Amino acid sequence: MERVYNFSPGPSALPLAVLEKAQKELVCYENSGMSVMEMSHRSKEYLAIITEAEKSIRELMSIPDNYKVLFLQGGASTQFAMVPLNLYVNKKADFINTGMWAKKAISEAKKFGTVNVVASSEDKTFSYIPEIDESKFSPDADFFHITFNNTIYGTRFTTLPNTGNVPLVTDLSSAILSEVIDVSKFGLIYAGAQKNIGPAGVTIVIIREDLIGHAMDITPTMLNYKTHAEDGSMYNTPPTYSIYIAKLVFDWLKEQGGVVGMQKINEEKAALVYDFLDNSSMFSGTVVKKDRSMMNIPFVTGNEELDAKFIKEAKAGGLVNLGGHRSVGGMRASIYNPMPIEGVKALVEFMKKFETENK
Ligand code: PMP
Repeated sequence: MERVYNFSPGPSALPLAVLEKAQKELVCYENSGMSVMEMSHRSKEYLAIITEAEKSIRELMSIPDNYKVLFLQGGASTQFAMVPLNLYVNKKADFINTGMWAKKAISEAKKFGTVNVVASSEDKTFSYIPEIDESKFSPDADFFHITFNNTIYGTRFTTLPNTGNVPLVTDLSSAILSEVIDVSKFGLIYAGAQKNIGPAGVTIVIIREDLIGHAMDITPTMLNYKTHAEDGSMYNTPPTYSIYIAKLVFDWLKEQGGVVGMQKINEEKAALVYDFLDNSSMFSGTVVKKDRSMMNIPFVTGNEELDAKFIKEAKAGGLVNLGGHRSVGGMRASIYNPMPIEGVKALVEFMKKFETENK
């Protein structure tokens, strides 16, 4: 059985080198005589793993010292509730609505206070990032939330809103570690692991220290950032194996030239697909050019039957998971960090061939 090129939006492909390293260490990790899965999270061996994982992500993202890095559970979806629970003081937040994940975050925040939707791109199926009118910002908001990269619709923020003293919070799930991000511009960043970090199970939170310790009284212990910050993400058992794989992914990323090196490769990969789409007489991209994502590329033929044929034949050719999200249809190629440029070239070659054969 050969490995395929997996264009899944998440969980998605992992670097083969990481899987092979994990395979080698699966049964017996270093001199421990056991698998990482079988270890106490408080053992010397495991503490070395989690410490190294934190050190690596700090280095890769140049995370300033006044930020905590937390390894949590519950996915990005749990953050939709944790963010307001921990940051609501005036019980008010500003949001930009750029799609399904933003809407879910908005609906959770509404359970605990007031939400002001500053801008939305819902009128055109979230195919662009809306213009932002600063006069609509709430000066007394506890935070301002954006979904940096919109996995389903394939849009991405290329400039950040200037929120002054209001902490900017972002869901970075589908773009973390894919391009250089200035962490100091944010109060809080969160991301589920299952795209650019590792297997599902761990959620990374990067939070400015002064935002910790103001949680609403109703906040359950496990949903309070303070609990995890004080205990080095060890208040309860962390998702040990996911964190171990994340550590291996971080090591791999350093070998690719870190985030700077990876961004260059990602720009090259995305350009291959977009250049083809812009010159094709059959396929077209669905997103406004200036707002295009580097990670998730939605496209259509304009004919649903042809889309279905494309997805089926691509799969038979070893290019899998190219179907668009069930809410939008068409196709979507997710090309996160681990997708090699060869996979992207194979996709473009396949599209060319399909176009010729189905004229
Ligand atoms: N936010 C974004 C941008 C996502 O892409 C996803 C998952 N695809 C989520 C949130 C939800 O993440 P989780 O399944 O980890 O809760």
